[in-house]
Amino acid sequence: MSIEDDEFRDEKAILLEHLQQAGLRRTGQRDLILEIFLRTEEHLTSEDLYRLVQRKDPTVGHTTVYRTLKLLTDAGLAREVRFGDNKTYYEHHYKHDHHDHMICTACGKVIEFYSAEIEALQDQMADNFGFMPTHHSLRLWGLCSECRSESGDIHTTAPGAQPRVKVKSVV
Ligand SMILES: [Zn+2]
Ligand SMILES: [Zn+2]
Ligand SMILES: [Zn+2]
Repeated sequence: MSIEDDEFRDEKAILLEHLQQAGLRRTGQRDLILEIFLRTEEHLTSEDLYRLVQRKDPTVGHTTVYRTLKLLTDAGLAREVRFGDNKTYYEHHYKHDHHDHMICTACGKVIEFYSAEIEALQDQMADNFGFMPTHHSLRLWGLCSECRSESGDIHTTAPGAQPRVKVKSVV
């Protein structure tokens, strides 16, 4: 795969610095995994990313993809998100603004949102308790507008139960 030298230059530099600190080598496979990750504007599991990487280079193993995603997370390029289906998803972190998520329990759609008011209220609330938040993840589960019109707003989950989620796969 031939890639413009300048593409993802900052991200590659960050990964390289992180690899050097960890005493690891820069490899073509790690670069490929980084590039495919950065090109995919979705929430991905390591399995999803593995499948995308396999299309370009079938010699890359799942463990390499998994470990590289961990490296990207440690380096601040990726961040982990969970939507309640017992899987770990990864999304872009570097140069991406903070946002929170709504998850449709019927179709698995994930909606990203940001509210300055909610963010400020959360900080205020933490402050009230003398709590210093380091990060947060606000998630709302329910029905998206499309699924609402299909179901007529029938609530299928008992109020005390964890919602059952099956997030849409991108691959
Ligand atoms: Zn937030
Ligand atoms: Zn839906
Ligand atoms: Zn997101």
